[in-house]
Amino acid sequence: MSRFTHPTPGGDGEALRLDSVSRVYGSGEGAVTALRDVSLTLQAGTFTAVMGPSGSGKSTLLQCAAGLDRPSSGRVFVDGVEMTKGSEAKLTRFRRERIGFVFQHFNLLPMLTAEQNVMLPLRLSGRKPDRRSARAVLERVGLGERAGRLPSELSGGQQQRVAIARALLTEPRVVFADEPTGALDTRSAREVLALLQESVRVHGQLIVMVTHDPVAAAHADSVLFLADGELVGRMERPTAEAVAERMTHLGDEVARRHVTAGA
Ligand code: ADP
Repeated sequence: MSRFTHPTPGGDGEALRLDSVSRVYGSGEGAVTALRDVSLTLQAGTFTAVMGPSGSGKSTLLQCAAGLDRPSSGRVFVDGVEMTKGSEAKLTRFRRERIGFVFQHFNLLPMLTAEQNVMLPLRLSGRKPDRRSARAVLERVGLGERAGRLPSELSGGQQQRVAIARALLTEPRVVFADEPTGALDTRSAREVLALLQESVRVHGQLIVMVTHDPVAAAHADSVLFLADGELVGRMERPTAEAVAERMTHLGDEVARRHVTAGA
């Protein structure tokens, strides 16, 4: 079993826990084990990157941890609440309140202004849209002046900052980010990563970010490495060079395993 428990730089308790989580797609001969017996604990107030080769289970890990997908076995807790039991409706409500999402392609609605996009999760959860908090969170990401713009009137980096504002509006305990800088130029990527870091330091959130980019991963407090659906390592205070080096060896390790398994 792979098990990693993180220290708490400035956090205030456990924000996410996976206990022996496995996810198998399909059945019989064609079954694919996307995650195998993954256990981990991540504290609030930390920024964790998840890395691994394509197909290593990063998206599946994020989906299961965020309650968007149900593990085949094992349990997931967000903020002490078990996500792997209870009705779909309850889970959806919990997700809207405690979990934020940031995606590679921003996922903003094109016909809504920045401010309307930011307020959308509140409207979806049946709460009163609160313009003042929407403005405040847009200020926080440096877009106070652009609240009335449509996504098409904003750059990629600005659109991603709107998406981050949207994810932060409900002050979720955990924010899951799936390749949030994958579609951005270097400068916008740096701005977005700085915002995520600030969110962790100032607001004590847990951020879990899947990325392919060692430079992006180096902004995190720690990096988890996945290979073949298993947690195979972690690095504290990563540097881009050290992460890139580790990724190279992960590739070798996976290839070696496959050769052994096939021999
Ligand atoms: P990553 O995000 O690291 O690229 P994924 O979590 O997408 O990895 O995939 C892990 C493994 O699970 C891969 O072998 C992939 O082909 C398989 N997989 C992912 N989603 C499905 C699905 N819906 N049905 C069948 N297999 C899947």
